[in-house]
Formats: sequence, structure tokens, C-alpha cells
Amino acid sequence: MSLTHRNAAELGALMAAGEVSAVEVAQAHLDRVAEVDSRVHAFLHVAAESALEQARAVDARRAAGEKLGPLAGVPIAHKDVFTTRDMPTTAGSKILEGYRPPYDATVTTRLREAGLVILGKTNLDEFAMGSSTENSAYGPTRNPWDLDRVPGGSSGGSSAAVASYQAPLSTGTDTGGSIRQPAAVTGIVGMKPTYGGSSRYGLIAFASSLDTPGPFARTVLDAALLHEAFSGHDVMDTTSIHAEVPPVVEAARQADVAGLRVGVVREFGGEGYQPGVTARFQEAVELLESLGAKVTEVSCPSFTYALPAYYLIAPSECSSNLARFDGMRYGLRVADDGTRSAEEVMALTRAAGFGAEVKRRIMLGTYALSSGYYDAYYGSAQKVRTLIARDFEAAFHQVDVLISPTTPTTAFPIGERADDPMAMYLADLCTIPANLAGNAAISVPCGRADEDGLPVGLQIMAPVLGDDRCYRVGAAVEKAFEDRWGGPLLKEAPSL
Ligand code: GLN
Repeated sequence: MSLTHRNAAELGALMAAGEVSAVEVAQAHLDRVAEVDSRVHAFLHVAAESALEQARAVDARRAAGEKLGPLAGVPIAHKDVFTTRDMPTTAGSKILEGYRPPYDATVTTRLREAGLVILGKTNLDEFAMGSSTENSAYGPTRNPWDLDRVPGGSSGGSSAAVASYQAPLSTGTDTGGSIRQPAAVTGIVGMKPTYGGSSRYGLIAFASSLDTPGPFARTVLDAALLHEAFSGHDVMDTTSIHAEVPPVVEAARQADVAGLRVGVVREFGGEGYQPGVTARFQEAVELLESLGAKVTEVSCPSFTYALPAYYLIAPSECSSNLARFDGMRYGLRVADDGTRSAEEVMALTRAAGFGAEVKRRIMLGTYALSSGYYDAYYGSAQKVRTLIARDFEAAFHQVDVLISPTTPTTAFPIGERADDPMAMYLADLCTIPANLAGNAAISVPCGRADEDGLPVGLQIMAPVLGDDRCYRVGAAVEKAFEDRWGGPLLKEAPSL
């Protein structure tokens, strides 16, 4: 099997055993990028030279007898919303074109400390706003399963990179579903850790009370290894949780659900869901029962209001966070010809630098926060948020995890929802509650829909700091599918 088609854990073991060098592994992945990325467009920036340099450093440390971690020398694709001092950081926006941050995000630092080899930066919806990666100022990314379809978003470059074997691992951020939804529609694993479990320092902010870095991988164990590598308390992030990282790797290895109580969220599924998604979800439920889990239906009535509440809270926070892009401090500045006031330059820069969706969100958020409307919109949305957290609490008195389809449909065609914001927002219907309450949630592959042959995701939600449960159940599902099919569930490499 070629090096690009190996998992991160396997690559780590091969390198530790001296069977292959980190340079060979990096080169194989860079060759794969050169071979397929002109069609996929997962990367905004490929850092070939620095990747080989990092790989050489890992090989040298190993040759010197240093004991390295399980992911040392493993290549990774990094979402272009994390700052990197040696590579451009655009957040998918024209307004940050050419910006080179003077510092690394904590997630970036921890990737480097774990010896991961950063291949480059991946495409995303501008400032992580979107569900398709079509809102990138640098053109859309394509789904490796069907190049005319979206890879999900906002972390669509990261999901496509892993699904097309350009990298075994990638990073993402999940504010309303931007890891789980792209993972589901590209047939890979994507995890949103508990809010505060992974650091936001150096993550270009969209909605600070929701933004959560997390891993993408092709196996549950690989995702857990990456999760462990970059998570944990960070003094640079005031909302970082002061607690041990839950035992995610151990849980992924445990992969056992006997006696576990699993709740199917009544509010998600049925009408409005693609039949192939519903069918695969039902199979996953039966599979869990056959493994000894106790499956019941659980009602979370406030989840119905999660989407509207999110589209008040996230734009409100973004309207404040994006005020810093004023043409004075970072990236783009237009019309500064010496005749215009600073205010005019700022207005013209923002008009030229932000795309349509970002402007829509800034306007929505500014309106929702304005005096006279604050209580009616932002205030009400915050109350809904509390009700959703209470629904989760009540549910977790009855069950250990909650499950649902990750998305109502499989990957949609590029362009289909581009002019219909509501249709686009509906892609995150099932993922948003976990963001509003701060819970842990994962998406794992659960087969392909009959009508279009495209991947379907199963979402597993756990309590705050119960991240290990997501991995335990996810790994059990993965293993059961492998046993049933005699190999990985989605074993066919997408034809590229
Ligand atoms: N698709 C959602 C949005 O557009 C979620 C984005 C995200 O999680 N970053 O806001």
C-alpha cells in the first residue's frame, strides 16, 4: 500500500520502527498534492520546502535516539484560519491577502511540538462562515467523491485533503458544524471537542463563544491521537478549560459499547432528510443495538430553535470580532491615496475586502445588537441557548450519548445553494446544538446513500468533557462496520 493511503497511526509506527523516514513520508504526500490538488483545490498554500525541512528535523532527532510521540513525522494539512509565522494566513478572505502573522496559534505550536509535518494551509469559507467552502475568496474546494459537489464547510479544504489522501490528518474549527459537516459529506472522521478543550489563541475569531479547534482523520483512532496532541489547557486563552484532556486515545482503542445507553434525538430525522441518510442512520442504530448498546428515543424540544438562535448569536459575535479588519493593521488597504480620511479608507477597504456572506453576517449581527433590538434578538437567542444546554443535561441523565444524522443530506452540487443562504444554513441543523451548549460531538462515516452513492455521517454527542465517549462509540461503530464489510467501510479511494 502506498504511503499516502496509510493512516497516521500506521505511518507513526513505520517511522518509529525505522522502516521509512519522515522525509519519504512527506515527499509521498507532497507528490500526491502535486498529482491531485489542481482538481480538488484543498490547499491555499503548499509549504513543500518547510515540510521537508521539518521532516528532516524529525529524522535527525530519531537518529539521535530521542523518543518521539506517536505522530512525529506524520504530515498534516492545517486550516488557514490558524496563525502560522512561516506561512501566509488568509482565513479565506481577500482582506487578509498576503498577511503573515508574527506568531503561531497555540494549535500550530502544539502540532510542531508533536513533530507533525505541516504540508500547508487549507481552503475554507471566508472567516469560517459557510457550509460549502464556496465562500472562499480563493475559489471553491471540490469533494473528492464527486468533483462537482461541495466538500462541506467551512473546513472544506481540510476535509477534502484527508478524503483525497493528500494528508492523513488535518485541523479544522467548528463554530456551528464546520468540522462535523465536512467530515460527514466527505466520508471521514471529524471531532468537535468540548468548548474550551482546545485553544483559540491564534485562531482568527469568528464567534468567540462557539469557535472550537478539532481534528479530521480517516480513522477514529487517528482523530483521537491528533485531538490529544493539540488539546489541553492554554494560559493564552481565557476560556480554556483547566482540566485534563479526556482519555480520548484510550477510548478509541476501547471501542466498546456493551451496556452503554444511547439516545436517538427525536427532533432530528424523518421529514426533510434525504432517504439514503435516514436509511444509513437506521442501520447504525441497529448496529449499536447488536453491539449491546441500549438505544432509546430522547426528546430535546429546544433543539428545534437552535438554528435561528445560532444565526443571531454567531453574527452578533462576528460583527464585533471583524471590526478589527479596518485596513490599518493587517492585510489589504485600498484607496489610500493621501486625499481620503482614515474613515473613508476603512470603509472602502472593508467594502472591497469582505465577501457577500461576511457582509451579510456583519449587518445581521450589528442589527441584532443595536439598542432597541438587543433584548428582542440577541437576548432571546441567549435564552434559547440556556434551554438547549438544559435539554442536553436532562438527556444525559437518561443516556450516555445522543446520536443523530450529522447532516440532513449528502454533499450538494457546487452552486446549488450559493444564492440561497437559508438552504445553506440548513446543512448545520443537527450540529449546532452541541456548539451552543459547548458539548463534545463527533461525526463518523456510516456508509453511502443509495440514491447518490455519497458518504453519510453519524453524529455522536456527549456531555461537556465527555469527549472520550464520542471516540469510544465512534470507534465501536467503525470496527463493527469493518467486521461486517471485511475492511474499511469507505475503502474505495475516491477516483481522482
Ligand atoms: N456553517 C455554519 C456557519 O456558516 C458553521 C460555520 C462554522 O462552524 N465555522 O456559520
